[in-house]
Amino acid sequence: MEKNWILIGKGIINWGRDERIGDRYGTVGLFDGSQDNLLPIKDVRGHGKLIAHIRKTRQSYHIGDVFRGLSPKTPKENEFIELGEGTVFFEHKNGIQGRYIGLKPDEPRDSDWLNPQALYRCHSQTVDLYFAPTQTWICEECGTEYASSTGDKPTPPKWKDGHECKLTPKPSAEEQVASEQVPSSSHAQATSSHT
Ligand SMILES: [Zn+2]
Repeated sequence: MEKNWILIGKGIINWGRDERIGDRYGTVGLFDGSQDNLLPIKDVRGHGKLIAHIRKTRQSYHIGDVFRGLSPKTPKENEFIELGEGTVFFEHKNGIQGRYIGLKPDEPRDSDWLNPQALYRCHSQTVDLYFAPTQTWICEECGTEYASSTGDKPTPPKWKDGHECKLTPKPSAEEQVASEQVPSSSHAQATSSHT
């Protein structure tokens, strides 16, 4: 578990039938044992990964996705399973109280927004669900951006011109909006030959 992961909910993980039928596999929900009430999921925004930490295992009743030859597998307790990466959204489904959380992938696609193999490894398991926000690092001198989903500082490449990137964490979009209200000293525009 990495230091920047956010615990967003606990419960039995499942998803709507429509996700399998439509092949989108875009959202998951947390239940308390009944299939009617979704447990709360903390409000998070932005880009990152969803990760299920398996706390308690049980045999899934789900037949799987027969068209894909996927059936539920019982994982090990304490296992961390990465469900996918993208931009967070929440969704409500007919007849079910509460909300599902999903990730929209960066590359536009109609199916497999989350990873179906990973999902069927988690089905019906009691999990702690984490959101791992993608931290962007930026070079103060040349403006090159680097993404890190662990929160750790990435290792910049060796540039041919000898430039060494000096990375600082780039504020999230929300933090940027807040700081734009405050007048800040104008930084010299960095120019670079390796954009
Ligand atoms: Zn640089």
